[in-house]
Formats: sequence, structure tokens, C-alpha cells
Amino acid sequence: MSCPCRAIDESRRIITGRYAALRICKASNGIQAGRNARRCSLMQQHPDLPEAFAELGVEVRFLKALVKLNFVKPSDIQLAMIPHALEGKDILGQARTGTGKTAAFGLPILQNIDPDGRLQAICLVPTRELAVQVTAELTRLSQCTDLHIVAVYGGQKVATQLHQLGRKPHFVVGTPGRVMDFMQRGVLNLQSLKFAVLDEVDRMLDIGFREDIRNILGRIHGDHQTIFVSATIEGEIRRLARRYMTDPMELDVSKDQMTVDAIDQSYVTAEPRDKYRLLRLILKQEQPPICIVFCNTKAVARKITKKLHADDINAMEIHGDLAQNQRDRVMASFRNHKIDVLVATDLAARGIDVSEISHIINYDIPQDPEVYVHRIGRTARMGAKGVAITFVGNDQGKELTTIEILINEQVRHREVEGFKASEPWQPPAEQAAAQQAAEAPAKPAPKLTLASKFKTRRRRRL
Ligand code: AMP
Repeated sequence: MSCPCRAIDESRRIITGRYAALRICKASNGIQAGRNARRCSLMQQHPDLPEAFAELGVEVRFLKALVKLNFVKPSDIQLAMIPHALEGKDILGQARTGTGKTAAFGLPILQNIDPDGRLQAICLVPTRELAVQVTAELTRLSQCTDLHIVAVYGGQKVATQLHQLGRKPHFVVGTPGRVMDFMQRGVLNLQSLKFAVLDEVDRMLDIGFREDIRNILGRIHGDHQTIFVSATIEGEIRRLARRYMTDPMELDVSKDQMTVDAIDQSYVTAEPRDKYRLLRLILKQEQPPICIVFCNTKAVARKITKKLHADDINAMEIHGDLAQNQRDRVMASFRNHKIDVLVATDLAARGIDVSEISHIINYDIPQDPEVYVHRIGRTARMGAKGVAITFVGNDQGKELTTIEILINEQVRHREVEGFKASEPWQPPAEQAAAQQAAEAPAKPAPKLTLASKFKTRRRRRL
């Protein structure tokens, strides 16, 4: 059988996109034949288990959990990573959040953990929210086993987490700061670890965890498997990989996932004073089952939530001013669909993974276009459809254009029934000048340069 991955530069061991998945399926006729035989007998005994995961080598105790979680087909990163990770290879995986990356590294590690042994695996994550989320996902995946997973992160009482560590977990998920803290207290010993995962490595480096990461990885002695997952893989991450991994295999499925095709993206022109009225109208007309409203500042998040409460809308805010236990409560309510609208700032929303988020509303357009992609990526998870609506002021055409360039797509203008934007505010002197100009006899149109043509078109569109 001819292998489609012949075209891949094996010397660099980079396997990209769909090829990563294809390579697993067609890697070797011998392995494939063995897998097929195992799968056939397994499927005869348990016809209700997800065959596509069984084919990757996932054992029955985890397949049973996958049935409960309604995982039928592996995602691209799962197809690409699970078989190699099960074989114990070091892996540098490029994948975004919402692509099923937790199960991609989680299933093989959980399966290879010795249930009778002590702490064997650690996963470092950039934020507290992600620590809670990854722990919850790993716990769900191992619900038909006796494996025990614990989260350690800053902002929660040390005593509580110490107590949990005392219950001898097999797998610890934590933020680098708190992991270091526990290592220094002598309650977390990483020497005998067999598996180390760095999740969202690019964000960890952005936040400034470089030294902590080096410190933690440097403490793991003995034979172990290391997996990095990151949305982007650049120089610093490769340097870390060279230093702490053995002959790593690079898997890149990010290109398949980068598209925002499944998201219906639009913008509405609104001046700051119109925005709340517009938000209320949209919530009333769209009736989003579950929605996040993104703001650029805590003050705005607080203000909107208050107004939504006054209007009897079931909303909660999440931002950096909330204590960790309050944030955890908000996230738990959101995850359990007890609130309809989550009003969030970007930092607090990092790593929010709640499936079935139907709408993202950018109450404030983000200054950084990458942030736009992160925000709207919270919807349309795992192939679902999503809606993203951005409020854009008359003077924010440039920000919208930068976003459109990044996503290589034009965001459509949306009219909202019953909403008319106010005229842009002008100081009185400018108002008088504008009126004078309007009344003056028309001058011949100036010749347009390319740049000014573009500006004019943007202004008109808004
Ligand atoms: P992650 O990228 O790991 O944060 O996963 C995003 C969401 O997708 C989580 O809610 C997972 O439970 C869900 N998920 C992951 N893999 C699958 C799959 N193969 N089928 C259905 N849902 C999945």
C-alpha cells in the first residue's frame, strides 16, 4: 500500500495537517493488521464502544468513559497524537484549544500510568482556569478507573491543596508558580515522574513562566516521556524541546483548526453610548442559549453585568478583581449552564472551555487581532456552529481591518432590527465646522490615492 506521508520530510520529523492523521492509519501494514485484529475481537465483545478510538489503541476502561462523554470520532490532534504517545514518544504538538488536545495527551498518559504506583504524571498549564478545566477533563476520561488527578494553582488555599496532594494522586495538573511552591516545601517530588506535559506552552512563556518551567523540567530525573502542546511553535519552544526532549516528533494539526469557517462573524456599528442598548436588543432577538460578552476592561465588565441584572438577565462577571474561589464558582455555574451570559475580560477568560457556547459578543473590539481569534474560538468547538458579533465604533475601522487581514476574511456588516446608531459625537466647534462644510457649495472631489481610497471605503462601510 502506498503511504501518503512519503511526501513528508522525514528528516525533520514534522508531520502536518491531515497527513499527521493519515500517517497513523497507514504507517505500517504490520502494525495496522495487528490493530485491526485486536479491534475486530474487541468490537465483537463490546459493539457499543467507539471503534475509531479502539483503533488508535485506547483500552476498554477508557472507551467506556468515551461513550459516557459522547466522543464518537477522534479529532485530528487525537488521531495524530494518541498512537505515538501510547508508544512513549516525546511529542511537540501544535494545536489550539478546543481541538480535543487534552484527550490527545491525556488518554495515552492515563492509560500508561500504573494504578498501583504513586505520582507519575504532571501537566503544567498557564492559568488557574485551565488547571481546573484540564483536571476536570482528565477526571472525566478516567471515570472508569481508580486513577486520581489533582489540580494545584495559585489563589486557592495552600492547605486545601496540600490535603489533596496527601491523597496520593497519580497525576498533578498545575500552574508553574504553585508547583514550584510545593516543590520547595518538599511536598511535591517530581524525581520519579514518568510523564510531563506542558500545555499551551506559548502562553506560559508569554506570561513569564520561562524560569519556572526550566526549573521544574530540570528536576525530573530518570526515564520519562515529555509532551508539549502549543498553538504556535517558535524558536524558544524548540529550544526548550531540544533541551528537555529526546528525539521529539513534531505534529502540526493547527492549520486544519485555524479556520473560523464554522463561525458566523459579523459586526455592528455602535458608538459607546449605544452599546448597552444594542447588547440588550441582540440578547432579546437572538436568545443565545449560552453566550460570552467580552469587554476590554474590568470596569466595563462590572458595569454591564449590573445593568443586565437590572434588566433581569441571568448574567455573571469574571475578571481579575474576583478572588479565585469566586472565579471558580462563576466558571462552575457557567459550565453547568446555570447562567446565560458570562461577561468576561480576556485574562480571566483564557482557557475557558465550555462546549456549546453559541454566541460570542465583542462588546469592545480587541486591540490585538490575535485576541479576537482567541475570543471567537470559544464558540464553534469540535465542529459545532457559532455566532460572533463585534461592536465597532465609527473610529475603529482600522482595528476591524487588522482583524480581517489576520483571519483573511471580511467580517460582514449586520443590521440589528430596531437599532439605529447615534451620530458620532463631535465637540461643538467641530459640529459647527461640519455644518458649515455641509452648507458650502460642493468642491470638485480630490484625486484619491490608493491609501485614501481604502480609508474612504472603510469609513463608508462603518
Ligand atoms: P480541549 O481542546 O481538550 O480543551 O477540548 C475541547 C472540548 O471538546 C472539551 O469539552 C472536550 O470534552 C471535547 N472533546 C474533545 N475530544 C472530543 C471528541 N473526540 N468528540 C467530542 N468531543 C470532544
